[in-house]
Amino acid sequence: MNVILIGPPASGKGTQAKLITEKFNLVHISTGDLIRNVIEQNNELSNKLKEYVNNGKLVPDNLIIDILKDYLKNINTSKGLLFDGFPRTVFQAMELQKLLDIDYVFEINTSLNSIVKRIENRYICSKCGKGHTKTSKQNLVCDYCNEALTKRADDTKEKVTVRYNDYLKITYPVIEFYKNTKMYKQVDGEKSSHEVFEQICGVIESI
Ligand code: AMP
Repeated sequence: MNVILIGPPASGKGTQAKLITEKFNLVHISTGDLIRNVIEQNNELSNKLKEYVNNGKLVPDNLIIDILKDYLKNINTSKGLLFDGFPRTVFQAMELQKLLDIDYVFEINTSLNSIVKRIENRYICSKCGKGHTKTSKQNLVCDYCNEALTKRADDTKEKVTVRYNDYLKITYPVIEFYKNTKMYKQVDGEKSSHEVFEQICGVIESI
């Protein structure tokens, strides 16, 4: 089973991805994480990518597709994949169709108001790069490796607004691309992560 999660920044894609991959035993592919891993390598490509990411801009299609194809070569895709943050353009969606069959596309519908509130509590581990939501400013350490948590450079109100507007302009056509297919389902991202997960499981398990 191959699944796509689409939603604006901080719509809960990462949280749902973790829950879905655990329950259905899928490989989690976050293109944001793939990019952050390349940035960590500090090479020529890292500097190029950093400029886009730190300004809240999408990485050009050719770059992200090459990074994804490279990654897919090195993993076992037969277990099933969960895409978190890809495709973000119609071109990427068309390229993905050439690579594999998709079973479900979930749009996590979330307003800009909720997103701005959520990024205040969003952190990333300085070592393993995993995302966290923390409502208290105390004990900001990673649940996985105990390292210090930091803010993402692109998680400011201004940058998240740019990313949200880009989402409406560039990524929303991806939803239109899938909307009239059997794969597509919208879930209510304003609800708690538990309720969103129940909506998603309800769709997958009803088939
Ligand atoms: P994310 O962690 O999914 O919010 O992604 C962080 C950043 O990585 C985005 O703001 C983009 O700059 C870049 N990025 C991630 N996935 C893609 C993609 N599919 N296409 C273009 N840029 C991407």
